[in-house]
Amino acid sequence: MTDRKDELAGNLAKVEERIAAACAAAGRRRDEVTLIVVTKTYPASDVRILSELGVRHVAENRDQDAAPKAAECSDLPLQWHFVGQLQTNKVRSVVGYADVVQSVDRSRLVTALSKEAVRAGREIGCLLQVALDAGASGRGERGGVAPEGVEELAGLVAASPGLRLDGLMTVAPLTGEYAGRQRAAFERLMDLSTDLRRAHPAATMVSAGMSADLEEAVAAGATHVRVGTAVLGVRPRLG
Ligand SMILES: *Cc1c(COP(=O)(O)O)cnc(C)c1O
Repeated sequence: MTDRKDELAGNLAKVEERIAAACAAAGRRRDEVTLIVVTKTYPASDVRILSELGVRHVAENRDQDAAPKAAECSDLPLQWHFVGQLQTNKVRSVVGYADVVQSVDRSRLVTALSKEAVRAGREIGCLLQVALDAGASGRGERGGVAPEGVEELAGLVAASPGLRLDGLMTVAPLTGEYAGRQRAAFERLMDLSTDLRRAHPAATMVSAGMSADLEEAVAAGATHVRVGTAVLGVRPRLG
């Protein structure tokens, strides 16, 4: 093995142990939680190594970086998740490689995604990104729809050709009533998921938890954790 492959294998094993321990502590089966490795700022060569090591889900947050990386890795059996704030002028590009967009947070974005998915002949999975720190504007600082807006936006996604409503996503807020209370934030997301599934029973995905708080997310009931730093290392720049 190369040094980098050794390093990533070791990091993956540690993350796997953390997820397994968190599942055991919560009385959940290990296969209830899917690991998504966030490869943003890291090269396509790392994505290739991760694929060789058995990773099947990767995530990116900037189309400029993700589009060429996904193209270089198009021969690999990977699902690509888009997790960043998404401008409508990038939607055509993102729809070209993303299997799931986790950051759906406004109706204009839904309209654009649907139009481009139909054009490309693809079905795109959508998670609504919930902003638990949304202020009066109804939007979070890092994107996301306020909890009060979830039902309406979900209805719109479910009715849009080319789109599939898969569930909810959140990032633990740095401000507001949930700042520093990841467990409470993720439990709130689970409550919203329970409400959502009454109207949309197939929308079972709950994406929450990153390197620092994956245990809290698994304890709360997350089905997907998004881990970057703990697998790839501290990012060379903010991303
Ligand atoms: C970068 C990022 C992650 C991963 O964060 P780490 O702390 O590196 O594990 C997860 N989710 C989103 C939306 C991200 O942008």
